Parts: sequence; C-alpha cells; structure tokens
Amino acid sequence: MTTIAPVAPVSLPPLSAGGPAAPSSSCCCGSAGASAQAVAGTEALGAKGAPEPAAAAPSAPSAPTAAAPPVAGAPVADTKLPGAMSPDPRKFRTADPASIKDQVPTKGLKAPALGGLDEAHRFGLRLIEGYADRNIAGTNRKSDHASGLGIDVTNGNRPTDQTKAYAEYMRQAGKQGLLGVKYVIHNDQIASGPDFAWKPYHSSGGNDATQRHLDHVHVSFN
Ligand SMILES: [Zn+2]
Repeated sequence: MTTIAPVAPVSLPPLSAGGPAAPSSSCCCGSAGASAQAVAGTEALGAKGAPEPAAAAPSAPSAPTAAAPPVAGAPVADTKLPGAMSPDPRKFRTADPASIKDQVPTKGLKAPALGGLDEAHRFGLRLIEGYADRNIAGTNRKSDHASGLGIDVTNGNRPTDQTKAYAEYMRQAGKQGLLGVKYVIHNDQIASGPDFAWKPYHSSGGNDATQRHLDHVHVSFN
C-alpha cells in the first residue's frame, strides 16, 4: 500500500533575462572622463555567469507564464539583470517607481540617463541633480551632467542600503554591457569600464560628503 504522490519538478521563476538592450545613443561627447585612479585592484568577482535554470522536461502542462503587461509611460522596460550577483543588490529593488518624487526636473537628460533614473526609482532613490552645464568639481573639464548623461540620486545623506545596492546594480549592469552605464561613483569608490571593478575614488574637488559621493550615487552613461 504505497501511494507515492508524484513530485512535480520545481521550476524556479526565470530571472527574466533578455530585456531589450539599453538604448545606446550615438553620442560622441568624449570628455568628462572620470578620474579613476586605477589602484591596480582586480576585484575577484565571483562571476559565475550562472544561466537561468533551463526549463527541463515539461511534465505537467503548467499555466503559461503570465507576461506582465508593460507599464504605460515607463521610459524603459523592466530590466532585471540576468545571472548571479554576489552580493545580490536586487533585494532592494522593490520600490514603486511611481511613488518616487524627484527633487529636480529630468529635463535635459538623454535616454540612457532616463533609463538609469528609472532603475534608481525602483531602489527608492530620487534625482537630486540631472542636467547641469557645469564642470567636474575642481577641474575645467565638463561633467557628464553637462551633456545630459549624468545623474545623481539618493535617499539620504550618507550611504544607505539602497544607494549601495543601486550602485552595485549599475556597476554590474555596466560590466554586462547593459543600460549604457559608463561609470558609477559612490561611497569613495568608482567603477568604470572595461572591467567595472570597484576602485578607490579620490575627488578632485574636495573632501566633503558630496565630493566623496557618500550622500549620493553618480552614474554616467554612454
Ligand atoms: Zn553627479
């Protein structure tokens, strides 16, 4: 008398890879290179590009995956980065973007910056500086803010779980060639291509919380 209920294979929800690639505007504004003092540090990333679990042997006719309808007016699709992330910043990507009020207008921001801002909203961060025709602090070089390709976002005046998670998320996006990320600065660190490893960041413009990027995340886009 052995009735063993057949155990259905557990199929994990896919990480929904394959969002549309970030729009790459053909902007050729060279300038505004981040002063990445490359302190030779090749961060050993546990980059094991674990592919999403292959849907094996469809035994039971399960319900078709309900495709979430696209949100009207969203600047970019709901891009979730594929693959393993360690530490995984996505657990802080839970905010309703519609609930976030930016502190400054988004006017003048180009498409990749708007896409990155949409991601920031999902981490609960608001825009505190977008387009601004100015130089990089302490230099005579134009900031990426001056070309509409830089954003400053935050939810506090010191590094928070959300700012750190967003910075890490965007770093990993850059590493995967997604979202048009050029470099990320936060919490005394900068990550830029091609390796997108975190390196120490020393501001040319001062030593306060803003110049050290403790109170916000800066992201530049291509
Ligand atoms: Zn900035």
